[in-house]
Amino acid sequence: EVVTRFAPSPTGFLHIGGARTALFNWLYAKHTGGKMLLRVEDTDRERSSQEAVDAILEGLRWLGLDWDGDPVSQYERADRHREVALQLLEAGSAYRCYASPDELTAMREQARAEGRPPRYDGRWRDRDPSEAPEGVKPVIRIKAPREGDTLVKDHVQGDVRFPNKDLDDFIILRSDGSPTYMHAVVVDDHDMGVTHIIRGDDHLTNAARQTIIYQAMGWDVPDMAHIPLIHGADGAKLSKRHGALGVEAYRAMGYLPEALRNYLARLGWSHGDDEIMSTEDMISWFDIADVNKGAARFDFAKLEALNGHYIRGADDADLLRRIEALLPHIPNGAALAAKLDDTVREKLLQSMPGLKERAKTLTELIDSAGYLFSERPLSLDEKASAILTDEARAVLSKTADRLETVDPWTVETVESAVRGVAEDEGLKLGKVAQPVRAALTGRSTSPGVFDVLAVLGRDEAIGRLRDCGG
Ligand code: GLU
Repeated sequence: EVVTRFAPSPTGFLHIGGARTALFNWLYAKHTGGKMLLRVEDTDRERSSQEAVDAILEGLRWLGLDWDGDPVSQYERADRHREVALQLLEAGSAYRCYASPDELTAMREQARAEGRPPRYDGRWRDRDPSEAPEGVKPVIRIKAPREGDTLVKDHVQGDVRFPNKDLDDFIILRSDGSPTYMHAVVVDDHDMGVTHIIRGDDHLTNAARQTIIYQAMGWDVPDMAHIPLIHGADGAKLSKRHGALGVEAYRAMGYLPEALRNYLARLGWSHGDDEIMSTEDMISWFDIADVNKGAARFDFAKLEALNGHYIRGADDADLLRRIEALLPHIPNGAALAAKLDDTVREKLLQSMPGLKERAKTLTELIDSAGYLFSERPLSLDEKASAILTDEARAVLSKTADRLETVDPWTVETVESAVRGVAEDEGLKLGKVAQPVRAALTGRSTSPGVFDVLAVLGRDEAIGRLRDCGG
């Protein structure tokens, strides 16, 4: 059975790169009928926080990425990490090193002077422990092979060879008895029965060092897939400006989880030319063998387009629910939520077909539904004010008069009334519709003006026209 894992460090939110790593692990587990486990890599006590753990789990849940079993805390497994380090020591595959901080500094400086990367020189590798200086607490270092290469057989990167002379005897257990990250990962992946490690390619060199520990323990090395990092649209490393944000930021910007999921799946993996895929499609098509070797580029425009697609396809009542869930997370959302009574809710639902046609994000949709929340007299934006010239205001007054006579009040009847005014006045429809729109919504753009009239209802609509037309 395939067992994958997502192993975030809880030092911040679930960022977009982490979310994609989680998604690939999830897809591969689902594709193979296996499991995805979750391990919280919280050994760095200074930088880890419960708040970050919660945010990561919340981000995964929002994205719909579930995991098997309880999240494993790496920190809580420190005893086990220590045990394995001592086992390696006993077997002669690791040794105690008593080098002092000064010695290590000198080693580093010499390496720098000679223009080579800093490497521990192995000075305690074969030394008799009886020579240990008094009062120095040793670290435990792995006895790494010195000749030949360490091979990482990677499903994305291919066979990558690391000359062993470049991989020094790195520390597995610190002098305070705490495991290093390098060591903890191996012990955890082994104990958790992980068969496939899918993670960012910034961990490729770690993979070589970790392979050395696996081999020293005589454990099977899991299959590896190091996926290229995400770059910005311009090819540079992903920064905030490019979209290197937490998943919760995408949520607050009004992206739907299914759209983000679809987008992230396509970021570094493809299936023919398919851009839009259901989760079932992704699961049945996903294979790590098809992950691209080149860096993926994050493209906001594509994400927006996909999001618009999913919004248009969503059920109206479902969208309303999502909007209500989103309000607490967006600026000014609380004020809108306070106004969202049954009447407004009903109107919002009624206007949903028009609203969702134009919105690329839920926040855009909420924004263009703003007129439903506004109270008379409306404040007009600059463009709306410019539309409402004296002439236009006179037209509004006539339109309001005509609308008084409309019965019943429907999209069709209000439309024919407005058209009637245009005809009578010898005006193009826009010359009537634009001022009506400005008066009803306070803006120069909105969903279809007849829909807006119909949804607002007779009293409110005519009231708003009168506010601007006298
Ligand atoms: N905790 C590591 C990170 O967040 C991942 C380590 C791994 O997947 O092996 O980058």
